[in-house]
Amino acid sequence: MQPFFVDSHTHINQFDTDEISSIVERAKISGVGLILAAGTTIESSKSCVSLADEVPLVEACVGVHPMDLKGRLNAEMFGELRELALLPAVVAISEIGLDYMEGRPDKVWQEEAFRLQIRIALEVNKPIIFHNREAGLEPLRMLKEEGAENVGVIAHYFQGSIAYAEACLEQGVLLSFAKPLLRDQGLQEIAGLCPLDQIVIETDSFPQPYKKNRETWTEPHHLIQVAECLAKVKSVSMDEIKEATFKNIQRVLG
Ligand SMILES: [Zn+2]
Repeated sequence: MQPFFVDSHTHINQFDTDEISSIVERAKISGVGLILAAGTTIESSKSCVSLADEVPLVEACVGVHPMDLKGRLNAEMFGELRELALLPAVVAISEIGLDYMEGRPDKVWQEEAFRLQIRIALEVNKPIIFHNREAGLEPLRMLKEEGAENVGVIAHYFQGSIAYAEACLEQGVLLSFAKPLLRDQGLQEIAGLCPLDQIVIETDSFPQPYKKNRETWTEPHHLIQVAECLAKVKSVSMDEIKEATFKNIQRVLG
């Protein structure tokens, strides 16, 4: 198969239904051949699955985001997620993780929901694409304790210190770089040090109505900018970035 660019994390299911086909078309024209749409709730996970069924360029990820927890991840939700995770349109468990910013849901709920969803990933044998905000090495510790290395793990929207990056890499976790790479020198330094076989790229696209100019909303076609920046940082060609990130995501998704 000819390699293509893969947007390893988006929420394109959240855009207006009548906009999605043009968003996908723009991505396709720019060289993006696959877009992963990640759920943040049970409902949005279902919408990712429907989108993946309708649009050949899209595959689904299911999960409950730590920010969207309204309480404990109860048995009913666990059961529903497990059913969804088994569907062939679902390629990974996401977006799950920890968000310890002030005002976020209870940490005990978050940890429990994260661990339960890691167990779903292990049971259905699909990789984990996780979120970490202000939770330090905690997600890595929990992933390790649950044995997540058996299914493959990606640190989505990677941002953080060199020490955190090294801990990820040592644990076999791939780093997923997004648009912050374009402006953050520290991040460029990390990308420079990260082996090419442990990198994937993403846009984390979702509707951004707080940006008045619609043209400036991030979309999957912006993945090319991330790839260009990565090529520059690593002093390799765009083809090498395309090939490496394609191989990496294929390997993780199986
Ligand atoms: Zn996301």
